[in-house]
This record gives sequence, structure tokens and C-alpha cells, in this order.
Amino acid sequence: MTAAHWSVGAGATDTGPRARNEDSFLSAGAVHLVADGMGGHVGGAAASAAAIEAFRELSSRTVVTPADVADAMAAAQAAVLDVGRRAGAESGTTLTGAVAVEHEGEPWWMVVNVGDSRTYQLEGTHVHQITVDHSHVQQLVDAGRITPEQAMHHPDRNIITRALGDGVAAFDAWLVPVAPGSRLIVASDGLTGAVPDELIGSVAGLADSDEEAAERLVEAALRHGTGDNVTVVVAHAPATTTPLDADPGPWPLWPLLDGEDDTTGVAARREPQE
Ligand code: MG
Repeated sequence: MTAAHWSVGAGATDTGPRARNEDSFLSAGAVHLVADGMGGHVGGAAASAAAIEAFRELSSRTVVTPADVADAMAAAQAAVLDVGRRAGAESGTTLTGAVAVEHEGEPWWMVVNVGDSRTYQLEGTHVHQITVDHSHVQQLVDAGRITPEQAMHHPDRNIITRALGDGVAAFDAWLVPVAPGSRLIVASDGLTGAVPDELIGSVAGLADSDEEAAERLVEAALRHGTGDNVTVVVAHAPATTTPLDADPGPWPLWPLLDGEDDTTGVAARREPQE
């Protein structure tokens, strides 16, 4: 953690019932991210590690801008493509989380997402999902064909429609106002596929620290019989607030009423759950 920076956080991970852990995370300085890799043998782990590594340099800076984050996303995309070329097979990774940025002189969380790992805002014991999954079941939910509850148990819940490594440069991003007392929770689907949002909120909301919240959420996923690697990062800003009149433009402000779907037809399938 960089003492000069205004955000702090902590992460925890567990392999779960899988043979190896293909998730990666970083919670240091301004950067709080989780990546969930996919691909045979070492490909998945290497892909998620490469995506995270593209952000490491930002974690030691005292000032990070949204443009720096966009550059790091491009570097992460290129690094994951390179992993796939070296492995001689398709590999990819999700990537989501929050970077504490300075935009027009004001502090914001910049939340980014590609794939179906999730970033939530925690207020009290309630979570609000910031990111929108790039997944087949999210498309079915958006179309009104299934409920979010049905999506958790849908046989096609592992099909994602976007991943780093698919060669598509676009990523979702929002500027989220920094508010006192609120925390951000970043998690791979090993948590969100096993533990309902209500329970994620109450477990994290009752923890005394970011570290305790991350560890308790990983434990909750294991207790709920997750079939996957579980990774959780929790972050907050101890003494920073985004002024009410701060302008996020040209970046979209979260929460937004406009939920446009920019997913592509590119699909990647994870290993089926054991
Ligand atoms: Mg996973």
C-alpha cells in the first residue's frame, strides 16, 4: 500500500474444489482488481496474471488518471493475447475492479469491466452491482427471459460474451463518486455464482476491515459449495469524498439509468464446473 494514496484495500483467494487457481488479484496503492482466467493447462492462470501485471506500475503512483487506466487496459489486452500466442491456444481472462483516479482535479473510483467478474458498492449491509456481466445469462435477463435468480443456476451460466484476449479493445468503465463509509467489493464468479447478493452484503457489512471482509466472503463461498476458484478484493477511501458538483465527463457516471448493451458476439466458454 502506498501511504500517499487515498485508497486502501485487501484481497483473499482460495482454489476451491478446482485443481489449480486461475484467478489473480491486486490490491495495492490505487489499484483494486480481480481477474478470472480461462484456458487449458497454465493458460488461464497466465492470462489472469498478465492482465493484473499490466496494472502493477499504476499501483505505485500517487496520481492516476482515467487515461492511465485506459492505457493499462490496452496493455492488459495485448499481454493476454501474447499469452495465447505463446501457449498456442486460446486463453482469456475477465478483469474488473476499481482504480482510485484523479479526474479534473477531483477524486473518483474508476470502475472497469470485461467479462463476468463483478464490482459492487457496499453501503451498510447492502450491495449494489456496478458492473454489468458480459455473459449469455445476462443477455437472457436483459431480454426478460429469465430472472437473475434463474441465471445463477442456468446450465449456460459459464458462457461469457467478452474477455480480455478476444481482441476486442472496448471495455466498460464508469466513474463512481467516492463516498465516506462505502466500500467496493470486487469478486470472481466463484463468489457471485455461489453466494446471493443479500448475503454478500451482510457478510461484508459486518466485517471490521477490508481484509476481514475479503476473507469472510471467500469462506462464505466455500461454505456455500462453490465449484470454482474464489477471489475477493475489498477497498475503501478512509478520508476522501468526491464533491457533489464534480464533473465525470466524458466518462459515464454511475449510477446511470441508461443500460445500453455493447456486448459483442464473441463468446468464450469456461471449463465446465466439476
Ligand atoms: Mg471463475
